[in-house]
Amino acid sequence: MFDTLTDSFTSAIKKIRFHDDEKALKKALAELKKALLKADVHHKVVKELIDRVELDTKKAGIGKDQFLDAMRFTLHDLLKSEGHQGFVFAANPPTVILMTGLQGSGKTTTTGKLATYLKEQKKKKVLIVAADLQRMAAVEQLRQITEQIGVDLYEDEATKNPVEVVTAAMAKAKSNLYDVVLVDTAGRLAIDEELMSELKQVRDAAKPSEIFYVADSMTGQDAVRTAQSFKEQIGIDGVILSKYDGDAKGGVALGIASQVQVPLRFIGAGEKMADLEVFLPDRIVNRLMGLGDIEGLAEKASSVIDEKQAKKLTQKIKKGQFNFNDFLEQMESMKKLGSMKSLMGMIPGMGDMSKALKDFDLENSQELKQIKALVSSMTPKERENPDLLNNSRKQRLAKGAGMDQMDVNRILKQFKNAAKMAKKFSGKKGMQDLQNMMS
Ligand code: GDP
Repeated sequence: MFDTLTDSFTSAIKKIRFHDDEKALKKALAELKKALLKADVHHKVVKELIDRVELDTKKAGIGKDQFLDAMRFTLHDLLKSEGHQGFVFAANPPTVILMTGLQGSGKTTTTGKLATYLKEQKKKKVLIVAADLQRMAAVEQLRQITEQIGVDLYEDEATKNPVEVVTAAMAKAKSNLYDVVLVDTAGRLAIDEELMSELKQVRDAAKPSEIFYVADSMTGQDAVRTAQSFKEQIGIDGVILSKYDGDAKGGVALGIASQVQVPLRFIGAGEKMADLEVFLPDRIVNRLMGLGDIEGLAEKASSVIDEKQAKKLTQKIKKGQFNFNDFLEQMESMKKLGSMKSLMGMIPGMGDMSKALKDFDLENSQELKQIKALVSSMTPKERENPDLLNNSRKQRLAKGAGMDQMDVNRILKQFKNAAKMAKKFSGKKGMQDLQNMMS
């Protein structure tokens, strides 16, 4: 996720090996400076950062831990803002959010992600308003997204006037007791007067609780500059960084925080609806420094895993009864977790792995697709007990899933072995074995 910065930070940290070694500190600071500049952080911010890290490290006595602490404090200080964190609900519902940003920034996708977050994690009734009437496909895109996530959409094909749409949508939101209204507004390729004047009219009609600006992290300093203009012209209360999973220069977060001084509220790290997280400085600093984010991972997992179901599953694994029916169910829950790459970035020490997994997409992996096709054509009884499958059934299944019978045999065997391993490691002694193996 934060590849560029994390790599350089890790390498800067490694430069300091000895205590009281001024030369090593200078080298590490130079590395840090290079990394920040490469990550598109404004040179004034870089200077401020480096000076502070140097001063703090020297104050504490030069050493690796001291350098790390100084870096952590400085980055944290820069990223933390006095404003709100995540989503803030208005005292009187509905909470109305104006979603703004340039065309292609990921505004529409992010609107869907935010709605998913509010529905799934906050259990809120959400209405999305299609007020981007500039881009022809935007309304259709929202139709697809809202259908997929099961959230209501307000649209009106009869008008090209976004103010009319918003006014009618607000009346509907109030009478139907929606908790949150997300207004998707028009974007342009660049800022122009027409866009700003339309946004002002829509803003005045919607009377939003807050205005969010969606910034494309891939555009570096451009994103910072555009955010600044939006802030000056229509006023923004929060920034959502999209596309943080790409080869984004992580510096955009530092740039927005230090130059625009609007709180970062969420980050989007993937194309899936689940790929949105609350922006928490501690976690981001840890990830920037390659330390992972276990807390974030646990939170994400617990949001999709039903505790009762998890217990039942553990029991089944312990008894060696985990079967293909459970497998299908698990695959469905895994999908809700979002992309594999964004998950890997949260595991300490696994940041590097996420690069290898860049193109690994759980949902679209060829192997998993085949397995799913195979398992779906099995009868529930066969899924429970694959030993029921005779040769002619295996042949039929292979044909249906577009593979050889050999593949079917291989998959069945792999599954049997995996279930055996899981059973072995699920007992107390098994956990000990596993821990021994890991250490
Ligand atoms: P809009 O014109 O601002 O509404 O932009 P869209 O929502 O249509 O997004 C533009 C493209 O960026 C689409 O292909 C999205 O799938 C993609 N996108 C949006 N957010 C993310 C993200 O966090 N990560 C990645 N990898 N792609 C994203």
